[in-house]
Amino acid sequence: MKEFTHEAQPMRVVLRPGAAVTATPGEAERLGLRRLLVVSGPRGAQTARAVADALGAACAGLHTEARMHVPAEVADRAVETARGAGADGCVTVGGGSAIGLGKVIALRTRLPLIAVPSTYSGSEMTPVWGLTEHGVKRTGRDPSVLPRAVVYDPELTLSLPVPLTVTSGVNAVAHAAEALYAPDASPLVALTAEEGARAMTGALPGLAADPRDLDARGRALYGAWLCGTALGATTMGLHHKLCHVLGGTFGLPHAETHTVLLPYVLAHNAPAAPGAMTALGRALDTDDVPNALRDLTRRLGAPRSLAALGLSEDDLPRAAAAAVSATYPNPRPVTEAGVLAVLRAAHAGDAPDTAR
Ligand code: NAD
Repeated sequence: MKEFTHEAQPMRVVLRPGAAVTATPGEAERLGLRRLLVVSGPRGAQTARAVADALGAACAGLHTEARMHVPAEVADRAVETARGAGADGCVTVGGGSAIGLGKVIALRTRLPLIAVPSTYSGSEMTPVWGLTEHGVKRTGRDPSVLPRAVVYDPELTLSLPVPLTVTSGVNAVAHAAEALYAPDASPLVALTAEEGARAMTGALPGLAADPRDLDARGRALYGAWLCGTALGATTMGLHHKLCHVLGGTFGLPHAETHTVLLPYVLAHNAPAAPGAMTALGRALDTDDVPNALRDLTRRLGAPRSLAALGLSEDDLPRAAAAAVSATYPNPRPVTEAGVLAVLRAAHAGDAPDTAR
């Protein structure tokens, strides 16, 4: 018998081309919101303005200062802007950075959030917030930061450059992969994660060839939704811990680091997670998931090693020590020697060793 606990998240999800401007006002109305602050990063300002225009009188202002990893001073200014505008809700337009800023506004003000994602980060499906103070990123879970509605618009992602499309897509696959072996996964989460990984890895080659393929963009967003749902329902393991360390302490870029590391962490965890590997094997149509993933990302032009991302070999022992300093669930016991071996292989970009 399969024993499990499953908790469904109370949110509405809309996916259709054009939805950013055609569906967001209706979602706001449904939630009874009349004064929304629209939040984006500087690069997403134009799209955010289009959403603000669509909201019309229900828009209380536009704030375009979101930055990666939600620096505390950026969060303070955004909360002030929301309060000053008398906002009764917040719409984020953009990737994980814009959503992250909206989440901290929600955490501090309890304003409801609507997310209009433009990458595959999946943050819109999770109750996890993050805030960076004095160079250290703190994260936490709070139901108040979970968006009440998510509006997926494939047209918004047409402008996502191919390198970011690929790495953001593999970032989503990493959520599915670690959800599949998470101790709090349920059968529904497992189905969601497998289908998410299938949809995303299926869409990426077409998008690398033609990033303006609207149908493939829709399939990738569908995959991102499912992978994000799996992320929001489970506790992540070694892969996410390592990415957090390499991003937070060594300044490595978020999605690229996920992309380089994932095959190596999966090769390491594979012997202790046969069910997850079988599910991922079905999704990717392979019996060697780590090497299939590495081959896919290489074919699509993604970075090939931690060295290529600028990490020095001398930093590997410090990164391994940091990754074992906290406790988190992982199918295989986490040891400093094991983590260092993963990091060394990923640093060199060698083929992942699946024979262990
Ligand atoms: P991001 O939001 O910083 O976007 C990356 C870059 O892409 C930015 O320069 C942005 O302007 C640009 N961009 C975004 N959408 C675009 C589009 N459609 N067209 C052209 N350019 C576009 O990065 P991200 O990878 O989406 O998110 C990473 C952040 O999200 C990290 O801080 C990470 O920790 C966080 N995150 C949080 C969770 C969570 O559950 N809390 C989950 C995943 C990621």
